[in-house]
Amino acid sequence: MSQSVLVVGAGPTGLSAARSLAGIGQHVTLIEKEDILGGAPILSGYARLVPTGEWASEAIGQMVQSVEQNPSIDVQTLTQVIDFHGEPGNFKAVCSNGRSFSVSSVILATGFTHFDSINKPEWGFGSHPDVVTTTQVEQMISSRQGVRCLSDGRKPKRVAILLCVGSRDRQIGREWCSKICCTVSANLAMEIREELPDCSVYIYYMDIRTYGLYEGQFYWRSQEEFKVKYIKARIAEVTFDGKRVLLKGEDTLVKRPISIPFDLVVHAIGMDPNVDNPEISSIFGVELEPHGFIQKKPSYNSVVGTSRDGIFVAGAAVGPETIDDSIAQGQAAAMAALGIINQAAWHLSNFAWTSWIGVNRSLFRRTRPRRQNFISMEECFATPLKIWSRLPKNSVALKSLLTALTANRFCFNQHFPIATRSVSSLIFTAPAPLCRRFEEDWNLHWKSMDSILSGKQFGGCWTM
Ligand SMILES: Cc1cc2nc3c(=O)[nH]c(=O)nc-3n(C[C@H](O)[C@H](O)[C@H](O)COP(=O)(O)OP(=O)(O)OC[C@H]3O[C@@H](n4cnc5c(N)ncnc54)[C@H](O)[C@@H]3O)c2cc1C
Ligand code: SF4
Repeated sequence: MSQSVLVVGAGPTGLSAARSLAGIGQHVTLIEKEDILGGAPILSGYARLVPTGEWASEAIGQMVQSVEQNPSIDVQTLTQVIDFHGEPGNFKAVCSNGRSFSVSSVILATGFTHFDSINKPEWGFGSHPDVVTTTQVEQMISSRQGVRCLSDGRKPKRVAILLCVGSRDRQIGREWCSKICCTVSANLAMEIREELPDCSVYIYYMDIRTYGLYEGQFYWRSQEEFKVKYIKARIAEVTFDGKRVLLKGEDTLVKRPISIPFDLVVHAIGMDPNVDNPEISSIFGVELEPHGFIQKKPSYNSVVGTSRDGIFVAGAAVGPETIDDSIAQGQAAAMAALGIINQAAWHLSNFAWTSWIGVNRSLFRRTRPRRQNFISMEECFATPLKIWSRLPKNSVALKSLLTALTANRFCFNQHFPIATRSVSSLIFTAPAPLCRRFEEDWNLHWKSMDSILSGKQFGGCWTM
């Protein structure tokens, strides 16, 4: 059984999953196809993030740094998985860099692809340089260059932000809401007004979905404090009148056609399924949902499960997602991956326990205590330790015991922190599964769990 977890994709989700696992001493292999970690917020140069207002380079940069510096995380950049087989607890992944890894489970954190506005040609992107996307405006702000018209570098006096570009649009096969772009756009509008107080900013919308607490923080604040104007409209086309970009359509509240000039038109682009998903699906053997995102199990009992056991998925790989939800899902996937390791370790520990009983029976027939009181942890484990020390070196029984017991190191450390400080870590990481089995099969009653955890002596007895 492998003790490592494979995390594919090093955006907020993958970083969070890797960090969570490494934080409890679990080994992780983190595969990223690009040359740097951080996912969309770093690769696309986002500016201040919603809702925290932190600069992406700092907030996500800190996550990247902590992952890169963690000795339990083996980071492989410019790498993709090209072959994958096996079963939960024992998968093998072959990578494009020629390396292969044995892993117990996989977390797919492969994220999304930004909608390419070229696929909405009637809205002017690619026809005129002053029609840009939200990621381009984010880059202008994060590079500290400031928001400028790309045609001639002038400061815009009138900016229009068009919502739902590449989302909620059945005509182009994208019926989903991208969830975060209303809030991101309201935030960008405030940033533009802050940098260029003379600039008027208009947001053209179908509906506003600054959901939950974002309503006050972004929607109302942008209007009340920053005087951003919201216009409910259907945009038909974006053209150029020789001087400025022209927005044509219908104001759907007053039901009147509109044709309004702007210096800069910004597409609030949505989140598409990762373009790699068909390949990811065939390599890892996981199903995609009808839009092309990775299908997750439709069950509250397995919120990060996929169609294949032992492979988990989190973040924007399953559909449009915010950064904080992606981070939380990364942590949930880490817990699920840990479950696989502990499950496998539990099977091994059962085997170890059976071996122990077998050896005990042959070596100490009739010499075992029938009823014995223990006064300290060391005494409690004295008998098993004596037996292990008598097992021949390199014997199958000893090897299986040690494998199983090492596999249970984490559980043991959690439940018996005092033991890790005692004697040798190998010996004292050993008895965890035995303790559990004592409780179940041998009716061992701990008199006071508190005293064990606080490292004091305890009393207990088992009945054989
Ligand atoms: C314009 C815009 C602005 C946004 N601003 C905000 C914001 O301010 N606040 C907020 O909460 N959310 C924001 N979001 C959403 C945010 O981008 C996502 O929530 C977040 O990036 C999801 O993280 P992720 O790790 O799941 O995916 P990604 O960030 O997409 O990371 C996926 C990683 O996996 C890698 N990868 C992909 N395929 C493979 C493969 N086959 N093999 C190996 N590696 C692979 C990618 O290179 C990438 O590094 C914004 C979205 C957009 C479109
Ligand atoms: S979040 Fe807003 S802009 Fe984005 S798709 Fe949904 S409604 Fe449209």
